[in-house]
Amino acid sequence: MESSSDFLVLDIQSCSRCELSKSRTHSVPGDYGPKNGICFVGEAPGHDEDIQGRPFVGRSGKLLNQMLEKIGLHRDLVSVLNIVKCRPPGNRTPTDTEMKFCGDLWLPAQLNYLKPKIIIPLGSVALRYFFPKARISRDKGKLLFTTDGKPVFPLFHPAYILRNGKKALEEYLKDFIVLKEILNKLNYLPGPEVISDSNDFQKSDEEDLNTQTSLNDFLP
Ligand code: SF4
Repeated sequence: MESSSDFLVLDIQSCSRCELSKSRTHSVPGDYGPKNGICFVGEAPGHDEDIQGRPFVGRSGKLLNQMLEKIGLHRDLVSVLNIVKCRPPGNRTPTDTEMKFCGDLWLPAQLNYLKPKIIIPLGSVALRYFFPKARISRDKGKLLFTTDGKPVFPLFHPAYILRNGKKALEEYLKDFIVLKEILNKLNYLPGPEVISDSNDFQKSDEEDLNTQTSLNDFLP
């Protein structure tokens, strides 16, 4: 019998329906968290993801994990997918054609299976898959809704934050705190580590940001 973590995984791993299959090491089906939960969606695998066959495992993934922990969520409690499942050569941005083809092939079925309470596109490419006219610089940190009423909360891609220093990291943390407040309103119960008072959380974590080497380690 198919386990919950197997949904479409073998199909994606063996897919050769576009040219990207020729240059990939592994396709990256994604990590499935609990159903009716939270689903992050990036644009495509990078170098580390291509090697390991898992999404967001490099420096970007590490930053994402730390941001999740800041709002009381563990990575195992969320789903992490990409629009395009195979790494474009040289880490280039996937073309619109690749996004539409691979995205439409797998993502709607994965989202239908996971039924997330909220979708979080990471970066401009992923955001434009859901909202072609959206702009990440204008729309990140805002609650949007798909035509069928699904909440979407776009955030910058962690790789962008890694390139843009401490100020960007501080803004990123604020966006995650807003996400936490939205999750509370959606009655999503992420687990015992959740911090219930967002004001205290914001204060303590802004202080942390100045002193914790773990986050500052990411900065250039
Ligand atoms: S990018 Fe998508 S469509 Fe192309 S080979 Fe990989 S899984 Fe298949």
